[in-house]
Amino acid sequence: MVSGVASYSTFAGLFIHAFFDGFAISAGMEFNFYLGLLIFFAVLLHKIPEGLTIASVMIAAERRRRTAFLASLAIGVATMLGILSVFILSGVNGRVVGFAFAFSAGASTYVGASDLIPEINHSRNRVIPLLVFGGMLLFWAGTALLAPLAGH
Ligand SMILES: [Zn+2]
Repeated sequence: MVSGVASYSTFAGLFIHAFFDGFAISAGMEFNFYLGLLIFFAVLLHKIPEGLTIASVMIAAERRRRTAFLASLAIGVATMLGILSVFILSGVNGRVVGFAFAFSAGASTYVGASDLIPEINHSRNRVIPLLVFGGMLLFWAGTALLAPLAGH
């Protein structure tokens, strides 16, 4: 159902994406603990779908279940590598956090604006835009709940 090349390119794309998930968590934590916490929960909410996605792609490409499991595990490891890379780089030079934060915000905005929102607009399913709106409300609620803790 899915070619071998497509399964590996999907894996490579999700690996890079997961790396920057961790990168964003760590950069957020370095900037402000509560902002990092908010990013952590946002990433946490889509980690299970990410793991299911890569495992499903591997199974659809007729890979073994063990390969699907290892691909899901590697996606999790990529997130941890992203987290560690900001910790290590910020220890070398504190200004790196600003660049990491800007880069991770830009990468997230790019993916959302170029891939996710256009895909949702093409969808005939009207529930999905409501879920996106619900996610935006969830982000707003999280920000409002954490703002007093962050001193804002
Ligand atoms: Zn992700």
